[in-house]
Amino acid sequence: MALLFRARSGDMRALLRRSFASAAPQDLVIIGGGPGGYAAAIKAAQLGLKVTCVEKRGALGGTCLNVGCIPSKALLHSSHLFEEAKNSFGKHGIDINGGVDINLPAMMKHKMDSVNGLTKGIEGLFKKNKVTYVRGAGKLGGPGEVAVELIDGGQDKIQAKNIMIATGSEVAKLPPVPVDEEVIVSSTGALKLDKVPEKMIVIGGGVIGLEMGSVWRRLGSQVTVVEFLDRIVPGVDKEIADSFFRILKKQKMKFKLGTKVVASRKEGGKVLLDIEASKGGKADTLEADVVLVATGRRPFTHGLGLEEAGVKMDKMGRIDVDDSFRTSVPNVYAIGDVIKGPMLAHKAEDEGLICAEIIAGVGTGHLDYNCVPGVIYTHPEVATVGKTEEELKEDGVEYSKGTFPFMANSRARTNDVGGDFAQGMVKVLADKKTDKLLGMHIVGPNAGELIAEGVLAIEYGASTEDIARTCHAHPTLSEATREAAMATHGKPIHF
Ligand SMILES: Cc1cc2nc3c(=O)[nH]c(=O)nc-3n(C[C@H](O)[C@H](O)[C@H](O)COP(=O)(O)OP(=O)(O)OC[C@H]3O[C@@H](n4cnc5c(N)ncnc54)[C@H](O)[C@@H]3O)c2cc1C
Repeated sequence: MALLFRARSGDMRALLRRSFASAAPQDLVIIGGGPGGYAAAIKAAQLGLKVTCVEKRGALGGTCLNVGCIPSKALLHSSHLFEEAKNSFGKHGIDINGGVDINLPAMMKHKMDSVNGLTKGIEGLFKKNKVTYVRGAGKLGGPGEVAVELIDGGQDKIQAKNIMIATGSEVAKLPPVPVDEEVIVSSTGALKLDKVPEKMIVIGGGVIGLEMGSVWRRLGSQVTVVEFLDRIVPGVDKEIADSFFRILKKQKMKFKLGTKVVASRKEGGKVLLDIEASKGGKADTLEADVVLVATGRRPFTHGLGLEEAGVKMDKMGRIDVDDSFRTSVPNVYAIGDVIKGPMLAHKAEDEGLICAEIIAGVGTGHLDYNCVPGVIYTHPEVATVGKTEEELKEDGVEYSKGTFPFMANSRARTNDVGGDFAQGMVKVLADKKTDKLLGMHIVGPNAGELIAEGVLAIEYGASTEDIARTCHAHPTLSEATREAAMATHGKPIHF
């Protein structure tokens, strides 16, 4: 009898699993529950649409919450505290007589607690906003239909008036260095190493490589970054990138710029990398305990039935969309890392919110990509918005420039007299004739928070005089932003 009951309730559960989403046609079905997809789902539900979000990972939050922004920032913060305790507390009159040590399992547990708390939080938000969450891999079925392979077994077919593809991106492969996630890792493996490698080589001097390289350097690894180009962080204003480069070198991160990796092999528990000058020439071999491949990410588009449905792709393998996120197939939209533009969580989220409004028939439906900030969460941080000096030159725009060093900012100096904290600068670029703010670039403490002022100013079409005449609390790091604005059209007070 008990057996019969278990079997019947199991059948019932399977039946429910198969049919709960397909019962009523949905106004919107979103494939992918990352920062683009989940935010769009909540917004669309708030606007009164019947929404289902399909996610195959078994947890909401996408790359960002599970293996990206959040776990990396947890480790960046923890490792920064360790480095501060080790190197800077003494200067502030805090003696740690017993010494400072790393408890890596506890650090990793803190990281996972942050991840789990936040991903569960999104499930809560889905319930609160009445978004249906389907755990499975979705693909385009026939017109107006999403077919789902459910994680718990079985299939589902969901009728949808509109479909939004928000399937994000995956690690791009570097053929000479195949990832095994043990000694040759991607960012995902670098987030869960179980011991601190003595020597780590990071391939790629971009944001992810420098962030993860910083984590393991702070925890004790000798880190060497191999970068194909002759500079780090391409796309960041060159003056800021150069200042950042000098700071990282002072922190004892090593660099091999203008260098490409041509082959790799594993020998005696080590990884050997054959390198050459990018432009051809001198060859060498490097040895490491762990190699991190951080050469970029590519849009995730396979298994979605895109080709069969006639969804057009661009030359870079991304889903082609118009300014309203419409694909070439009616009522099928795409947002986030899977389309053009910077691969950033807040860009994906903004696109998701705007796309939800477009589908619901409300809102202005416009994202100004010039106002999307970029942040590198090292210490100090790097943050940028708007045009770089190189872009203005290339576009033939006449501009004025103001800079202000954190060394002359009272709060930066107080927090860490003459040390790390007072390094870097704020750089402001404005139209020479109108004084309109065109770009703000910061390398310095809390740059990721400070940049919000520049983003808002560019969104509102402010001038550098507007920023300079706005009262900034004293003593704060934000005074450096104001003084850089003063320097753009006049003179700063404190430098
Ligand atoms: C180490 C690292 C650190 C990062 N740090 C930052 C940072 O600090 N700030 C920042 O802005 N960005 C950061 N990023 C980038 C950021 O994570 C991405 O830009 C962002 O997650 C993109 O959001 P998305 O919603 O487009 O896609 P994703 O977050 O990739 O989400 C897509 C989701 O779709 C799911 N999916 C795919 N196919 C299917 C299918 N067929 N059916 C159902 N579900 C499917 C995937 O499982 C995934 O969960 C970082 C990335 C990495 C790797």
